[in-house]
Amino acid sequence: MGKIWNETKECMSRDDMRRLQSERLKKVVERVYYNCEPYRKRMQEAGVSPADIKSLDDIVKLPFTSKKDLRDYYPFGLLSSPMSEIVRIQGSSGTTGKPIVAGYTRRDIEIWGEVGARCLTAYGLGKNDIVQVSYGYGLFTGGLGAHGAVETLGGTVLPMSAGNTEKQILMMHDLGVTALACTPSYALYLAEGLAASGLPREEFKLRVGAFGAEPWTEQMRRDIENKLGIKAYDIYGLTEIMGPGVGYECEFQHGTHICEDHFYPEIVDPVTSEPVAPGEKGELVFTTLTKEGMPLIRFRTRDLTRLIYDKCECGRTAVRMDKIMGRCDDMMIIRGVNVFPSQVEAVICETEEFEPHFFITVDRVNNSDTMEIKVEVKEQYYTDDIRGMLKLRESLAHKLHSVLGIHPDVKLVEPRSLERSQGKAKRVLDKRKFTND
Ligand code: ADP
Ligand code: ZN
Repeated sequence: MGKIWNETKECMSRDDMRRLQSERLKKVVERVYYNCEPYRKRMQEAGVSPADIKSLDDIVKLPFTSKKDLRDYYPFGLLSSPMSEIVRIQGSSGTTGKPIVAGYTRRDIEIWGEVGARCLTAYGLGKNDIVQVSYGYGLFTGGLGAHGAVETLGGTVLPMSAGNTEKQILMMHDLGVTALACTPSYALYLAEGLAASGLPREEFKLRVGAFGAEPWTEQMRRDIENKLGIKAYDIYGLTEIMGPGVGYECEFQHGTHICEDHFYPEIVDPVTSEPVAPGEKGELVFTTLTKEGMPLIRFRTRDLTRLIYDKCECGRTAVRMDKIMGRCDDMMIIRGVNVFPSQVEAVICETEEFEPHFFITVDRVNNSDTMEIKVEVKEQYYTDDIRGMLKLRESLAHKLHSVLGIHPDVKLVEPRSLERSQGKAKRVLDKRKFTND
């Protein structure tokens, strides 16, 4: 059995955990009610006061918070601490318009480091590890979040940030880096860089990857593990709630444990907003139980997953969530059929002849939806033999059809011709969003 950073919290009995969550929920509801006007107003409109929240069961009485609220009250409207207590601002790219920012108190930053250390410990890392942080540093929570986690753990942090692939490989090699933290997309990019460097793999000490910030499939995991020769773990988080460290995989990799003493998860139907039956898929919703700077109540993440409450073989009792299948916003409706980029990724990664690089373009031509998928063929399978290439294309189109339920237009492209990502990959262009609104 692997080491556990905070056994008291990670392995607490379900009853004790519920009691702790209830206590903390009451406190955080009071905090936002008395310190944050938008929350007070919203609760008054809904006819609930802090006195109505006696236990976790009462959480359903509380109104949701959405990404739109973070934009509407940008920049500091949702803070529950005075600015004098805020020691850090982080932000997320968001989609359009105003960015989203979050404020952290000193204690928030400490807790962030602590949950981060739980993650790294679960990956088998400790004081003797050198962790290369290749998430971007800056407003994005990836870089500084992973950085804080390594410092709290007591390992050695190598703050590379994203970019400059050659230097990344050189440092990884020369310093004997044992763990890499970055997005799964960037891990693939670095794997290509490593192969191209000509440096022998046995001269590297790399053994663990902490990858997150974007959805990635099991198939993608295997691909990255094979290419880098490491064990790749998932780390989950989001700016509004904290950053990376909200959840992590243990050595058994049967879902992502959530640090639920700090972040209480619920799953609701994304359309009706009603809680789903236990174990059902839906939209993940978080209530921060201990945040001071910007606590959020029932925040709608838009991420789709399900919760697993069975005890895990690792000994942790903390609830697990399934791999995120995508965000509600990622879902494309093509000729009436719901399609997720993760489904395309799974098929492509499972097929030997292709690199895990693809790009989807969706459009509407003559009132009918079209979906084009460009896929990179591996060097050794990319040939001038037209018949062979046609056959390859047909077989991929066939597999995609059986999984997606629609016929995409598959285009095979040369190795290394699609753009690589150093952060979160952009794999979809939906032209209908611009032309048919
Ligand atoms: P944004 O991407 O919205 O600009 P963030 O950087 O805060 O903002 O990213 C948080 C989002 O990234 C999550 O809501 C989720 O959609 C995605 N994400 C983060 N970690 C993972 C993960 N391990 N698996 C899948 N998706 C993830
Ligand atoms: Zn576990």
